[in-house]
Amino acid sequence: MRRTLIFNPEGDREVGKRKIVLGNSTNIMELNNVKYQWAFDLYKTMGFTNFWIPEEIPMQEDRKQYEKELSPYEKRAYELVLSFLIALDSYQVNMLKEFARYLSAPELVMAITSQEFQEALHSYSYQFILESVVDPVKADEIYNYWREDQVLMERNKVIAELYNEFIQKPTEENFIKAVFGNYVLESLYFYSGFAFFYTLGRQGKMLNTVQQIRYINRDELTHVSLFRNIINTLREELSDLFTPEINRWVYEFFRFATSKEIEWGKYVTKNQILGINDLLIDRYIKYLSNLRLSQVGFEPLYPEVTENPMKWIDQFRTINDTKTDFFQAKPQTYVKRSELKW
Ligand code: ZN
Ligand code: ZN
Repeated sequence: MRRTLIFNPEGDREVGKRKIVLGNSTNIMELNNVKYQWAFDLYKTMGFTNFWIPEEIPMQEDRKQYEKELSPYEKRAYELVLSFLIALDSYQVNMLKEFARYLSAPELVMAITSQEFQEALHSYSYQFILESVVDPVKADEIYNYWREDQVLMERNKVIAELYNEFIQKPTEENFIKAVFGNYVLESLYFYSGFAFFYTLGRQGKMLNTVQQIRYINRDELTHVSLFRNIINTLREELSDLFTPEINRWVYEFFRFATSKEIEWGKYVTKNQILGINDLLIDRYIKYLSNLRLSQVGFEPLYPEVTENPMKWIDQFRTINDTKTDFFQAKPQTYVKRSELKW
């Protein structure tokens, strides 16, 4: 694939000819007519409606709880999960600009730009959590856990390798694979970590961190929506790319990714965290995997799992519009309307 030119005077102006990739756009941000309204809407939702500031969430209570109330297992899980989330958001900040270089619809480039801003904000949120909750030596260790922890290192490599392959060899096939890597990262890889934090929060523990995670989770769901739309549109516009081999690869990749996420969830919690156990993690991740596959037109891999075993999470993660939100009210002034359902 060829990178998009900054300005292409020979490009088509007709909105009907616009394509997500491999189109012939002038690359002027002509927004008088947009073809992909969902992308333009998501640009605004990510950029303005959902804007938030990590520093506006006070963290003092968490510092006390981390020192005095968390069990050694809870502390270990808290640190490992943060370390993994830090890697995932780092990849996103760096990879989204790569995707953007190949897009040929201005509204898509704008949406990706908003997403990239949010991923950088998440990286900042993790730093703010660490500097507020743990001492600087510990914070430094958490950033570096992947050097010591082989399981984490293996985890960190999976999506990074798909991304690196596309950067080194930007073929159409590697593009599709990287897009699915992105979709899995956003829609599956965050979730055993999020489930752990919400389990703590449900017991009144580490509520400040949980509040940061809820804002991050809300953003990640808009990213899932963006890439779900991208995949579904690619399937229409470039159906030739979805060869039987690629479709087979998607299933294999999902099966692999789901098992790795379950393994990871079990590894970080060690079946020692009140409110979450190996079986719940297994069912929850398989449930999400089924949902994510079906949302992009594929069959679920685990038909035996039909229910979300941790339904309370959906309720718990939602950020309310009103002051009745039981965490805190202040950052919500940025939320102009109720959380959209993705
Ligand atoms: Zn993120
Ligand atoms: Zn994201």
